Parts: sequence; structure tokens; C-alpha cells
Amino acid sequence: MTTTLITGGNKGLGYESARQLIAVGHRVWLGCRDKARGERAAEELGALFVQLDITDDSSVLAAVETVGALDVLVNNAGVMDHPWVPTGEVTAELMRSLYETNVFGLVRTTQAFLPVLAKSANPVVVNVGSSLGSIGRVTAPEAPESLVAAMAYGSSKAAINMITVHYAKAYPRMRINCVDPGYTATDLNGHSGYQTAAEGAAIISRMARVGPEGPTGTYRDLHGPLPW
Ligand code: NAP
Repeated sequence: MTTTLITGGNKGLGYESARQLIAVGHRVWLGCRDKARGERAAEELGALFVQLDITDDSSVLAAVETVGALDVLVNNAGVMDHPWVPTGEVTAELMRSLYETNVFGLVRTTQAFLPVLAKSANPVVVNVGSSLGSIGRVTAPEAPESLVAAMAYGSSKAAINMITVHYAKAYPRMRINCVDPGYTATDLNGHSGYQTAAEGAAIISRMARVGPEGPTGTYRDLHGPLPW
């Protein structure tokens, strides 16, 4: 049985990804920073709960001990400034707070679980990025992403793209990809997205199921590859 850990699994895209992966037979750990909400979500889904704050070294190391064996890591936990802070008002403190979770937290978690994943016959990592991190989209006048002034969030997600490529190159036996779920109605954006969480989670759960011959080092949404 495939064992999967989803960070930030208590709601939104992480929760729906867990539901979809459990439906195809994965044993899913929900990594949640809030114990009560995490345990409730895990019980609803038939998942396992592990307390996990990806900004905290000791929390991540304790989660590695609790989870034990792991085949799939879904780096889903993320934060956003909402509503968007205009570019000229973005402070170093705002950037740091978003990067703490979206970038450093992702690296902290990935690095801690790499030795565990290395023992799997089919190790897979899914990094949940965003098309707002696509420089190609943000600079294309016809793309909706070009209309969004999301410097802090977008640059944190662009960093995930580069991080994905470096991990994929360093660990060729693992399938390590970055996905954009699309604009999805969740707490992250005050439910302004036009997709359901189940629709957004489809690409996350698909890339969590890639086999040893599947792609690695890619960045895509449900419709195909995205420009970096
Ligand atoms: P959400 O409903 O706000 O869920 C975010 C999850 O991340 C929550 O479970 C939250 O936990 C968790 N989290 C935040 N900081 C954490 C930390 N330090 N440690 C552990 N968990 C933490 O948002 P979502 O839309 O599902 O977002 C999931 C991912 O998709 C994010 O990476 C986001 O950037 C990405 N994404 C979303 C959209 C969209 O349109 N919604 C589009 C593109 C990409 P708490 O409940 O404790 O806060």
C-alpha cells in the first residue's frame, strides 16, 4: 500500500487531495499544525493524523519519527497575502512571513523526509505551486496571471519551481514535480476561486500517483505543462 503525507491537510486542497488519494487506496497521513482540526479532518476522511508545523524544525523531525515509512510527500501547506498587498507596499517582513512557510517550510519538510522517501520503491514528491509563480504567464499580457500584482506570493511560488528542478536533478530515482491546482475557492483566497477544491486537487492527486517511469522535474496544471 502506498503511504502518503499531505502537509496542510485539514482543509482546502490538501483535504480534497487526501480524499482523492484515499479513494484510490493510499494510506494518507494528514500533516496539520492544529491538533483538534487535524484529528477531526483525519477522522472524517479515514486518514491518519500527524501534528506538523512546517515552519518548526522540531515539529517536522517529530513527524518524520511518527510517519516512519513514506512513499509520497505532498508539499501542500501554503499561505498568501489576501487581499494582495500592492507591490510598492510589500515589506521585507511580509516577504519573510510568506517565504517562511511556502519556501523554507517546504524545503525543511522535503529535506527531513528525503532519507525516508529514498527507502521507497517508488518515491514521489508533489510540490503545490501556482501559476502566479510562472514568469512566462505573469509576463504574457493575454494571461490572467499578468493582471495580478502578487509579488510576495508569486515570487515564493516561483522559488518552488526552481527548488523542484534542483531536487529532481539531485534525486533522479524520485518523481518530483510542481503543480498548479488552478484558481480554487478555499480559505486562502476568501473563497473567490472559480473551481471547487475537488477540481483543484485533481492535478495534485494525479501527480501523487505517477509511477517510476512518470515525469520528474516538471511544472504543470491539469491541462499540461506550464511555462516556467
Ligand atoms: P487553505 O485552504 O488556506 O489551506 C492551507 C493549508 O495549509 C491549511 O491546512 C493550513 O493550516 C496549512 N498551513 C499553513 N501554514 C502551515 C504550517 N506552517 N504548517 C502546516 N500547515 C500549514 O489553502 P489552499 O487553497 O487549500 O492552499 C493549498 C496550497 O495550494 C497552498 O500551497 C496554495 O498556495 C496552493 N494554491 C492554491 C490556489 C487557490 O486558488 N486556492 C491556487 C494555486 C495554488 P491551518 O488550517 O492550520 O491554517
